[in-house]
Amino acid sequence: MEYTINRSKLELIRGDITQQETDAIVYSANSDLAPGGGVAGAVHRAAGPGLWEECQRLNGCTTGEAKISAGHNLKAKYVIHTVGPIYGNTNNDAMFLASCYEQSLRLASQYKIESIAFPSISTGIFGYPVEEASEIALRTVIGFLTRHPEIKLVRFVLFSPGDYKIYESTLQEFSEHRPDT
Ligand code: ADP
Repeated sequence: MEYTINRSKLELIRGDITQQETDAIVYSANSDLAPGGGVAGAVHRAAGPGLWEECQRLNGCTTGEAKISAGHNLKAKYVIHTVGPIYGNTNNDAMFLASCYEQSLRLASQYKIESIAFPSISTGIFGYPVEEASEIALRTVIGFLTRHPEIKLVRFVLFSPGDYKIYESTLQEFSEHRPDT
């Protein structure tokens, strides 16, 4: 599914974030930026050991923050590492989750990245309900693209068909209620 914001495009696809040819890919990291399970493990495996070597010099990452590195063996030139909130840990889950998308996009803009792919942050091991997370993710990205036309493409890469459907129906609702431009 596609949604346009001025001349920029927001895209939803089913797939694997490690295979994306966008300028940058984002993934849900742990605070050490170490290879682990889930999407972090997949990204580190596909990027090769050079990624972890570089990550050890980045000084970790706190919840809601984002760091950038090279893409190493990935097709993407850059990897953006962001730490999502563990659902239910604080009263500010929504703020931290929005911050992951916002900080990642700010880095993209600083590094002149025109196309970027996101997974669904925090909705795996970190337990964020996908409906709620999809609203925050899509609203934050749409807001950013409205203010930052230099980013041409944001692609959400949903790993499971169920997650794809949920993101699609959230985006559908947003497009039915979008203000006339
Ligand atoms: P978190 O700790 O942020 O919850 P997870 O790695 O457990 O991170 O999962 C985040 C989301 O990423 C989940 O929806 C999971 O299905 C998805 N995911 C796992 N592997 C991939 C992949 N290779 N590409 C895209 N998404 C993935």
